[in-house]
Amino acid sequence: MGLISCDSTSSTHTQNGYSIGSQSRVERTNSNENNRSASSVTEAKRVTQGVRATLPRFIPPAPPNFNPPKEDPRRSPIVSQPVILTGEKLVNQGGRAKSYSVNVGQDKWVSLELWGKAHKGWYGQIRKGDGEFFRLVISGMRFDLRPKRRLITCQGMQIWMGFGPQLFGGSLYVHHLDIKKHLAPLAAGMPSMGKIAVIDAGHGRDNKGTRSTFNREYEKQYTLDWAQRLKPLLEKKGWRVYLTRNGDKSMSLTERVRFADRVRASIFISLHFNAAAAKVRGLETYCIAPLGMPSHFTRGNPDPISSLLPNNPWDERSFQLAARVHNQILLKCRMPDRGVRRIRFMSVIKEQRRPAILVEGGYLSNPSESRQIDLSAYRQKLAEGIAAAL
Ligand SMILES: [Zn+2]
Repeated sequence: MGLISCDSTSSTHTQNGYSIGSQSRVERTNSNENNRSASSVTEAKRVTQGVRATLPRFIPPAPPNFNPPKEDPRRSPIVSQPVILTGEKLVNQGGRAKSYSVNVGQDKWVSLELWGKAHKGWYGQIRKGDGEFFRLVISGMRFDLRPKRRLITCQGMQIWMGFGPQLFGGSLYVHHLDIKKHLAPLAAGMPSMGKIAVIDAGHGRDNKGTRSTFNREYEKQYTLDWAQRLKPLLEKKGWRVYLTRNGDKSMSLTERVRFADRVRASIFISLHFNAAAAKVRGLETYCIAPLGMPSHFTRGNPDPISSLLPNNPWDERSFQLAARVHNQILLKCRMPDRGVRRIRFMSVIKEQRRPAILVEGGYLSNPSESRQIDLSAYRQKLAEGIAAAL
């Protein structure tokens, strides 16, 4: 850890049956939707994306190209059927939303029902036990949301949105940024992510990271082992893979970002283990908070929601990558799910000009999880989970 030790939530329920983004697409369009003002991005020339390689090989030195990501074409939506699971009861099938959107102050809220209908989705209010929630099924994805709660689930997997949804006239409205940055990207499916991956084993040398309560081993050793297990798995799938470090080496966060620039990485994945109070356990995956959206937590750092970060043009892709990786690790490792989260302060991902995520593969401060992390079979599964997502 070192970067993260999240004790801001205690949600640790385990859920099964995740399946996210099973379809992938390689098409791209040349839409001009990315005219945001990041000077570093707008100055970059648009060149063809999607470098492919079948084997890892030497890349001749060349200036890095920072391509602003192009908006993916939306998958043409399929008509979604109602999904009512065992123990659930349909209370209301919708039809209450009076308008597509509602403006409150500076914020625009979008009707979940009408946005869903525009994408051939199914919307309903469901009672389970004593609780009620709203469900949108869209492109085969099941989203469950509750008023005023930033925590939603997609196929049972936890996602922390930027804003708690609001009830207007008995119908649920979602902040437009959450529609754009969370729901729409997941409904659109997983885009092509290129073929050059930088895997960043967190910490190194004097920066040892957190320490296992099980055997006092340091995080830096486990992250390196995880990265080294992941590399051949990705290479087998045709990725060209670079590790930021392949030994016990000291490396600053800035150096890790520059390294990814130098090898023209198409994605960046930083690997860590976590620490908090002893009882906290589970898996977390992080990506950078979009412009205008508050962080999930700040750890005492400023959270300037109106400043554009170098990684922001990749908001949707980073989130798609995060959700997919999180999902696959949960499936492989059966970890308690602590959700996909948005933060703003992590330099190692916020400075990246490519989809970038940080995975916390469990808590070294938790007695049973630290024991588990020490097992090579578990670290292999962590690696297999990421490889399965790409
Ligand atoms: Zn760490």
